[in-house]
Parts: sequence; C-alpha cells; structure tokens
Amino acid sequence: MHKIDFDLVEMTMDTMKYAIDRVSSTTTKIGKPKKAEELKALVGETITEKGIGGEYAFELWRKHLAKANVPVDHPRNLAFVPASPTRAAIMFDLVTAASSIHGAYWMEGAGGIFCENEAMRWMVSLTGLPEGAFGVFTSGGTAANLSAIVTAREYWRGLDRSHTLEKGLIITSIGAHSSVKAMAKVADIDVVLIDTEDRLEQQALQETINSLPVHKRHRLFAVVATGGTTNAGIVDDLEGIAEICEREKLWFHVDAAYGGGALMADSVKHLFKGIDKADSITIDPHKWMFSPYDCGAIIYKQPELAKDAHAQEGSYLDIFKDEGAHGFNPSDYQIQLTRRVRGLPLWFSLATHGTDQYKEAVERGIELAQIAGKMIEELPHVELVRAPSLSCVLYRRIGWQPEDYTHWTYENHDKGFALVTPTKWKTGETYETVSRFCFINPDTTEHDIEMILETMV
Ligand SMILES: *Cc1c(COP(=O)(O)O)cnc(C)c1O
Repeated sequence: MHKIDFDLVEMTMDTMKYAIDRVSSTTTKIGKPKKAEELKALVGETITEKGIGGEYAFELWRKHLAKANVPVDHPRNLAFVPASPTRAAIMFDLVTAASSIHGAYWMEGAGGIFCENEAMRWMVSLTGLPEGAFGVFTSGGTAANLSAIVTAREYWRGLDRSHTLEKGLIITSIGAHSSVKAMAKVADIDVVLIDTEDRLEQQALQETINSLPVHKRHRLFAVVATGGTTNAGIVDDLEGIAEICEREKLWFHVDAAYGGGALMADSVKHLFKGIDKADSITIDPHKWMFSPYDCGAIIYKQPELAKDAHAQEGSYLDIFKDEGAHGFNPSDYQIQLTRRVRGLPLWFSLATHGTDQYKEAVERGIELAQIAGKMIEELPHVELVRAPSLSCVLYRRIGWQPEDYTHWTYENHDKGFALVTPTKWKTGETYETVSRFCFINPDTTEHDIEMILETMV
C-alpha cells in the first residue's frame, strides 16, 4: 500500500477535477445532515479488508456524503460565523497537503514556515503591536486562546513563587466566546464573568476587580476582552481595558478570532483602538481572512514568553535545537507539536491577490450588514435589536416566539434556500430569541438578503 499502488493518473485527474469544479461552482447547494444510520444505509460497508476501490469510494462521496454537509461558503449561509475561502487559498491547500511538510520546526519546514511568517508579519502589522511582536498559526481560535491563557499563567507564576501553589483566575464578560471558558477549564483556571453582553467598559472591569476579595485578587492574572463578539460583533473598550491591565499588572488578551479581519477595514478600525497594547491577540484567518479550515492564529507582544510556556523538551527533539536548524520553530509558541503549515494557503492567496482585495472583501461584509440594517428598519414585520456591528445584525420578527424562529430556520434549510439561525440576546435579566445575520462572503447580494427577509412575512 504505497503511493505507486494508487491509480495515480486517473484518480489524480478525478480528484483535481472535483476540486476545481467545486471551487468554481456558483450553484453549490446548501446540503443537509442525515442521521448516521441513514448514511450507513446509503453507502454500506466502506472499510473492508480488500478495500472498495477509489473510484467507488469517490462515487459514494459525491452521491451521498458530500450532500450531507452544509457548505459554509454558500452566499445565503449567514449562520454562526460562516466562511468564504478564496479559490487561490483552497488550491494552495491542496499543494500544502501534497507537499508533506512537518510544520513544527524550521529544520524540516523552512520553506513553508517562511511563507507563513510573511503572512504573519502582515497580520501583526494590522494590530499595531510594537516591534518584536510575532505569532504562529494554530488550528483555530480555541487553540489560540488556550495557548495565550497558558502563556499568561506561566508568566504570572514566574513573577512570584507564591503563585505556583495558587489556582489562577481570569476576568472576561458573558459576551466572550464559549472557548474562553472551555479553555480556562482545560488549564484549570477560574473565570469571573462580568454580566454584560454589550461592550465591556473600563468602569465595569474596574468595579469587578475592586470587588474581588483579597485572596481572589491575588489569584487574578489576566483579562480577556473581545474584539468583535461572535454573537453581535461588539468590540469591547480595548483602550480602557488596556489601561486597567497596565495599572493592575494583568495580562491583556484580546480575542479577535472573528473580528480580527475588520482591522483591515478603514470604516471600523477605530473601534479597535487600544488593541496595540495587548499582550496577546487571537485572530482566525479561517473566519474573516478567507482561509480554508483550519487556520487560527495567536500573536504575542513578547513571543519569548510563549516559548517559556510552550517549548517542548525531549531527547528526540534535541536535533532541532542544533546549529544548522536555526530558524523560527512554530511549535515553541503554541500547544501543538506536529502541525500542518496551515498559514501557507493564506500566504499564497495574499501574495496572489494583494492586501487591497482583502480589505475590499472585508468592507463588503460590513456594508452588507449596514444594508441589511436599513432594509430591516424599512420593513414592517421586522425590527433591529441593536444597530449592526462589524458584520453582525441582530433583529426580531415582530410577534414571533422562539419556536417560530426555529421552525423558520428549518424550513429555509430544508428547501436548500438559506441557513440563518436564531440566537439569544441578553438585556438585563432577560434572554430574547432573535434572528442573526453574519456576513463574511463578499458574494452575498442585497437580493439574497431581501429574499431571506421576505420568507419571514
Ligand atoms: C469562533 C471564535 C472562537 C473559536 O475559534 P475556533 O476557530 O472555532 O476554535 C473564539 N473566539 C471568538 C471570538 C470566536 O468568534
């Protein structure tokens, strides 16, 4: 079972043709999940002692399995945070796979890591972080947040020996992404949640810190602010929070996994004022930088602190630290050892198109949110919950109950027409079920939005 046993020419033609058709198609359907038993009944036994053959396996994929996925790049998929990878990035993702690059150490992956670093340098420049700041690509925002939280905690423990026996504590708001809480759990860190889904302001943070009992204040080492909440696109008061973190000697992490792409957009960049004071920043290129899955990134003001926390030791790894292997080792700065050079497709696409086209595509997402906001204000049956922020729009269908939103979502999905999912918005003590658009794909049209809103009449 080696490369030569595969019918190289024919299967290569088939797979390449499929990939090319898929990226150039403008009529991709919104697929629908099926139950595992239904899929099993359709495809039968696929893993057998003798194999079913590539041609047949591929046919099963095409006929049944591919259709059970919901493509995130469909122009009327406005659910969660959709994505819209460029064709250049997708095609180079194939090249990345074909190149068999171990992206942990410069010694093995210099060419690929060089390209990743070129793309990273551009990303760092968007943040305005000072000279010396740098980052690495991760599997996503979750891994990036974990890498940052662990770096911050290790730094804090290094500052004062009395912290070694203490459980760390971080402060964030309920607007923060679920991964912040989940990764705090992984790192065995407690979280204090400030009860606002709206913009986290300086004063609320200061009051929360002041209200901590002494033993808890002693355990506090970081604040996680959000640069574009996943639910509503809200950017916290980064400048005000930075000021407090500096005064209180706390690590300042900005989770801009979704919103980071908006740093390119002149129309909203001012909202991120203060991000240049962060100790670490999460940005997901697989969200608003048009990269294929999976591609996240973590950027540090002082990368050597991440190295202190994450560099792995092992006799089998010593060779990578030798002369001749010198260069940037991505594995030293985040939680993963063996890694795909997942920033490589982003590099190729940036090099191909130039950063201006990226900027335009991000501005289009923001513009679509503004357009949707205006339409909603003009229609009698819907109203805005709050003004659109970045590319998120929260709105309600007047008179609808939570189950009406669910029913409507399924109906549009079943028809293969659109995927727009409900969410909840918290004001005071009440959670209201509302509808939400998140625009990423620059090919979404005003007509798409009109048609979706029409289905709510
Ligand atoms: C999506 C998101 C994450 C999680 O990123 P993954 O790439 O899904 O792991 C974290 N934070 C924010 C703000 C996000 O929008």
